[in-house]
Amino acid sequence: MAETFRAVTLDADKCKGCINCMRKCPVQAIRVRNGKASIDYDKCISCGNCIRSCPNRAISARYDSYDILNGYRYRVALLPSCMYGQFPHIYDAKLILNSLKNIGFDHVFEVARASDILSLLKRELFIMKDYKEAPVISNVCPACVELICSRYHSLADNLLDFLPPLGVAAKLAREEAREKSGLPDGDIGVFYLSPCPAKVQQIKSGYYSNIKELSGVLSIGETCKKLNLVDVADVRTDDDIKASNMGIAWSTCGGEASNIPNTKQLAVDGIESVVGVLKELEDGKLKDIDFVEMRACQAGCVGGVLNITNTFVAKSKIHTLRKTVLLNKNNVTDKVDKPQEFYKNNWKWETKDVFKLDGNVLKAMEKMSKIETILKALPGLDCGVCGSPTCRTFAEDIVNGTAGDSKCVGRINESFRAGKNARL
Ligand code: SF4
Ligand code: SF4
Repeated sequence: MAETFRAVTLDADKCKGCINCMRKCPVQAIRVRNGKASIDYDKCISCGNCIRSCPNRAISARYDSYDILNGYRYRVALLPSCMYGQFPHIYDAKLILNSLKNIGFDHVFEVARASDILSLLKRELFIMKDYKEAPVISNVCPACVELICSRYHSLADNLLDFLPPLGVAAKLAREEAREKSGLPDGDIGVFYLSPCPAKVQQIKSGYYSNIKELSGVLSIGETCKKLNLVDVADVRTDDDIKASNMGIAWSTCGGEASNIPNTKQLAVDGIESVVGVLKELEDGKLKDIDFVEMRACQAGCVGGVLNITNTFVAKSKIHTLRKTVLLNKNNVTDKVDKPQEFYKNNWKWETKDVFKLDGNVLKAMEKMSKIETILKALPGLDCGVCGSPTCRTFAEDIVNGTAGDSKCVGRINESFRAGKNARL
């Protein structure tokens, strides 16, 4: 059987068991046993928090190598706008766009052009109130989508029904490449430059396989390092920026929501805040909201873990770019000229039962009762020294038989003081 692709990977040899990653994981997918961390990939949403938090660089993201370009005669880069924020000293976005042609691409398609089109489609959607459930939740951030599908099932129907910009961009880019190159599809490679493992995972796990437009996914960070070696004098700035200010805004949190006028919106960034808002939505709070934009990374995709520039510097650069250099880019040049089906998401968001204690209700209840009993005996410190993120998850691990030899240090100390042997 083919190995399942994992965009977030852990090198046990480098892991020192410090529990930093375990503490930062928003879905409690990490355990540390016998001094080594491991990831439960059924629960992992590829948010990248553990990559950011590991002081030993034991956790990293996987993506395609640039060698993949060699398999195609005509190569297209799908450029996300957060890339413009990666070069704080270059104020000519055109230069960044065109320099991609100096590192192996024949054509560059801005993902923000698809965001432009989707902004127009969403305006129409909200005018017509043509959606299943309110509030409509953005599907742009795959980490947030995964979180909803694994933990907040009742909100899955609220996810926006259009393809995310990346999907629309891939389709349009391939069409454009066919026209420009005159080559058959097999000779054209379309590659996304990803700011995060969540998008790598989404692409590699087959989300876009039904449209077969994407040939691979590269990292923004690696791309920036290559671009830094390009001599500016060698860059021919033939192509202009085609995306508008509106589409480019999507790379910072709030940009997507701000393009839908006359709606009550929320724009939430940072996975902890996202979790908080999802809980409130699931509890039926925040009822009068029409649209919720969610981004797992702080400040939006400019904060993705594969970017190389400080999130706030990149965010400020994007804002400056929009206010100054791109002042003349207020109109969308691309047209919504395809049938609606072209832009629609024909992937069913699949909910997963990864957090269920047991598939059998009676067994699940029995387990729950045991967990509550064990929990009463634990100190409630949530210190993580046992290798589970909280006392509750430690109790769950004991009941599920996955706690191994782990012990509760709080209990050991207590017992030691009382002159007894610790049982947990
Ligand atoms: S990528 Fe995110 S969800 Fe996955 S293990 Fe790391 S912190 Fe947890
Ligand atoms: S906010 Fe953007 S960069 Fe961060 S995980 Fe979501 S899609 Fe990726």
